[in-house]
Amino acid sequence: MASEVDDGAQDLDIESPDGFARAEDGFQRLWTPHRMVYISGADRPRHEGAGRECPFCRAVDADDEAALVVHRGTHAYAVLNLYPYNPGHLLVCPYEHLADYTDLSAAQRDEIGTMTATAMTVLRTVSGPHGFNLGMNQGGVAGAGIVGHLHQHVVPRWSGDSNFLPIVAGTKAVPELLADTRGKIAAAWREMAEATGQDTPPEGTG
Ligand SMILES: [Zn+2]
Repeated sequence: MASEVDDGAQDLDIESPDGFARAEDGFQRLWTPHRMVYISGADRPRHEGAGRECPFCRAVDADDEAALVVHRGTHAYAVLNLYPYNPGHLLVCPYEHLADYTDLSAAQRDEIGTMTATAMTVLRTVSGPHGFNLGMNQGGVAGAGIVGHLHQHVVPRWSGDSNFLPIVAGTKAVPELLADTRGKIAAAWREMAEATGQDTPPEGTG
């Protein structure tokens, strides 16, 4: 059953829930259709190659806002995870398409380490997490979703942020939109880099 709503600007057809079959219970529903993209693997590259197939290579040349990049260094950059465990879940990646930690140069490893520490400081400024999970999964068997391009997870944690949902429903509630999170973190990172004089412009990219 549809009812007409006229707000003066546009006509909208809004379906009333009254006409739908239901058997009510005491549960709340959290609708997260965006998770299906991840579960179905639609965005996941089919091979381990560099280039357009790799989301971490695509982000190297992409617009910061569109790619959710929060900071760019000389050898590495920090980007919001499209499928966050928590708001502000960052990934620190080398620009170069390298899979294994042992493949990285000393300079790449140094910057990924430094950027990870800076990411923690920035996230503490933005959202005051009580703790962090840091780490990288090496190889598909270890849980890496994108196996070809190394990425260090920086996951902010709060007391009580873990509940039954991920366990029983494979679902994680994330209460902030990615564009908003990116804007806050990128601005805080920029401010901190300016204040400490630690800003490092990207190499060869504009
Ligand atoms: Zn790549």
